[in-house]
Amino acid sequence: ELTAEDAREMLIYIADKVRAKKSYLTEIDSAIGDGDHGIGMAGGMKKAKERLQQMKGEQNVYAVFEAAGKAMLMSMGGASGVIFGSLYLAGAKDMEEKGVLTPEDLAKMERKSLAAIQERGKAEVGDKTMVDALTPAVEALEANCDKGLLEMLRAAEEAAGQGVEDTKKYVAKFGRAKSLMERAIGYQDAGAASVWLIFQGMREYVE
Ligand code: ADP
Ligand code: MG
Ligand code: MG
Repeated sequence: ELTAEDAREMLIYIADKVRAKKSYLTEIDSAIGDGDHGIGMAGGMKKAKERLQQMKGEQNVYAVFEAAGKAMLMSMGGASGVIFGSLYLAGAKDMEEKGVLTPEDLAKMERKSLAAIQERGKAEVGDKTMVDALTPAVEALEANCDKGLLEMLRAAEEAAGQGVEDTKKYVAKFGRAKSLMERAIGYQDAGAASVWLIFQGMREYVE
């Protein structure tokens, strides 16, 4: 279980982690995209952290995710701001207030976020986007709820990592990589790598 304070600290930990990986993410996006993914993510995570730092004492665990997602959405702009903001925001908004997040709650929240991201962005598995990492990660969360938070996060991290690997096999349906067609094969998707880092951060924090 995660209390609202645990969730707040966890998302700050992830924000620091993603910001430290800014050049790694930008490098990946430079190979087949426009090379700004690390900059966008680092900027969004900086705003998310600032917002989270103001939320000490928050009792509603969903409010923590919602605030972080909103900060990302509003600061990052563009399609990727909506997509990565939704990762935290979509699953947490309109939820009844709760003090702790159970493994089941976390799985449900991430499933809802994935659905919103796909509703909005229309990407399916195999389109070489973050959906390729998020889909198996959500499935792993759902399949491992009964094993407790740490085990389910280990499974999600591994599944997301495999999803990143899988993106190398695909041609892209979105963004600049789309125009490269077969030439994008062999390269991973930057947004998928961000999803993997986020789940890795959750696992590291809980561990
Ligand atoms: P931009 O493409 O505007 O430069 P970023 O570089 O920050 O934005 O983010 C690109 C990432 O966003 C891609 O690597 C991909 O994972 C993700 N992405 C792009 N379009 C979509 C979409 N329609 N659905 C889901 N994810 C997407
Ligand atoms: Mg880009
Ligand atoms: Mg761009």
